[in-house]
Amino acid sequence: MHQPVATNTGLDGDTLSMILEALHDFVGHGLPDARMLELDHEDQCPEDLVRAMCGDELGIQLLFVPEAYGGMGGGSFDVYRVCEQMARLDVGLATSVLATFLGSDPLFVGGTPEQKQLWLGRIATEGILFAYGATEPEAGSDLGALKTTATPVLENDVVVGYRLNGRKQWISNGGIADAYTILALAPGGPTWFVLARGAEGFSHAKPEDKHGIRLSNTAALFLDDVYVPVENLVGGVEGQGLIQAQQVFGYTRLMVAAFGLGGGWSAVDRAIKYSTERIQAGTPLSEKQGYTHKLIVPWVVRLEAARASIEETASRIDAGEGENGALNTEGAIAKYFATESGNSAAEAAIQAHGGYGYTREYIVEKIKRDVRITTIYEGTSEIMEMTIARDRWQQHLKTRGEFYRERARELDALHARRPEVGAATAALADAALAAVLEACRIGHLTRNQHVLFRLGELIAWAECSASLARRAAAAADGALPPKSDSRFAPPALAAISRTFAREAAHKVAEDGLRWVRGAAEPGTDLDGLEAQLRLPEVHAAQAGLVADMDLVADALYHRPM
Ligand SMILES: Cc1cc2nc3c(=O)[nH]c(=O)nc-3n(C[C@H](O)[C@H](O)[C@H](O)COP(=O)(O)OP(=O)(O)OC[C@H]3O[C@@H](n4cnc5c(N)ncnc54)[C@H](O)[C@@H]3O)c2cc1C
Repeated sequence: MHQPVATNTGLDGDTLSMILEALHDFVGHGLPDARMLELDHEDQCPEDLVRAMCGDELGIQLLFVPEAYGGMGGGSFDVYRVCEQMARLDVGLATSVLATFLGSDPLFVGGTPEQKQLWLGRIATEGILFAYGATEPEAGSDLGALKTTATPVLENDVVVGYRLNGRKQWISNGGIADAYTILALAPGGPTWFVLARGAEGFSHAKPEDKHGIRLSNTAALFLDDVYVPVENLVGGVEGQGLIQAQQVFGYTRLMVAAFGLGGGWSAVDRAIKYSTERIQAGTPLSEKQGYTHKLIVPWVVRLEAARASIEETASRIDAGEGENGALNTEGAIAKYFATESGNSAAEAAIQAHGGYGYTREYIVEKIKRDVRITTIYEGTSEIMEMTIARDRWQQHLKTRGEFYRERARELDALHARRPEVGAATAALADAALAAVLEACRIGHLTRNQHVLFRLGELIAWAECSASLARRAAAAADGALPPKSDSRFAPPALAAISRTFAREAAHKVAEDGLRWVRGAAEPGTDLDGLEAQLRLPEVHAAQAGLVADMDLVADALYHRPM
């Protein structure tokens, strides 16, 4: 987000642990499985619970509000940990809480001091719920196509207010919020306005009948000549809306990344437990390698790669590196990889439960439907691929191809110091990526949008692999951030990192070659590329893969490693 969070010192570790525990107990008490399934079935938002969470009873909203406005001033790392925990409980409920923070983001970023004091203060002290009204029926990924208008109302040639007209689509908390930020086209360009519930001409549709997150209220909004006083124009200057929306992405995408992580892990943890109890052919499923190494281990490995990317980005935002959207690409990588991994992990968890996974009672089916939204909202996976690829493509051009070669050298240096974390294999992914990008430059291949998007995917794999190797090395050095997740001991994390690095190097080199070959002019000589991809080394690096997967399974099932 916003400078206030970037300059926040964040919570101390004990306070964060207390919040995570309180959240778990509070939601566990207010939302036992039976009630959760019933609400899901009835497609009902437990507004009472959302308000209790964001009010005096739990006060989770205080975490997100800077101390200056009466909150606790949690940093990005705190927010990631809390978002993961909320999503483990219910992604729908988590979405309702997220909506308040998305809704107030334009104010954080661009509000005047008075606007911040008023609205952020009200979130902290009154626990009011916000909604974020950006999307329209015909303006989703392309917000610039918005049609909602803000027409100035003049008195004696002075603008005293605006009349808003239009429709917003898929707005979380749309039917229950107390306040709304609405993006509308003013004469000076797209602009945010803050609007209180109940304004004349402002209404909402009935909640959407959704595939998942059915505990979250999602509704269309209708603006029919709604008057807003000029004091409610966020920041007091027209035309800042899209810039303000962009500025927060590094941070808000990290929140949704944490939802993917929490949703995915919640499904995998259920599958792990189930596999220890379910006996087939005389032994528990957890003892069958063909089961664990397909349905559990790969998803744990990907989720932990995503976690490494999230933790690294959150730490950097908290260190003040995220000003003015400087870490938006890292946020996009974390969001893309964590949500895609969470979604795939939940799908595998259904399979891991067999027929029981296909019924509602075992909950993985619900988690799968819920976590599905995370690859769509706050920027779809395809938009993430585009964002990632465009930025790193520019870096590749600017550095004349050195960007990933330099990163490969850094990983080789890490390997020299900590050979057990797979950094040399992660370096192969970076080296291959540099070669693929260069082949795309020479052949003008990014004219193909599909190639550009595939580059976005490969970049995410390579960068997550590097983040994971660094995290595993920090764990081995006893130097993980103090508030870091501590589920895995350093040797297990090293095995996870080696496993992921092999997959990343293989994917970047083989898929990269495939797309270059697939898009190049027929007859193009690509022998040079094949050599630069170092395929024999990538293949040789796969040695020990199955043994490492065995180690990861041992760690998950608490067997001696
Ligand atoms: C449950 C739910 C809650 C939501 N909550 C909110 C909210 O609180 N506030 C809010 O403002 N919005 C909210 N949204 C909207 C959400 O952010 C959008 O749905 C999302 O950004 C995608 O926009 P769209 O649905 O118009 O799809 P589109 O943009 O039409 O995309 C359709 C498909 O085309 C792909 N695509 C789009 N553009 C391109 C391109 N240039 N090149 C290649 N492929 C492309 C997309 O990746 C996607 O696969 C919510 C949506 C849902 C479903």
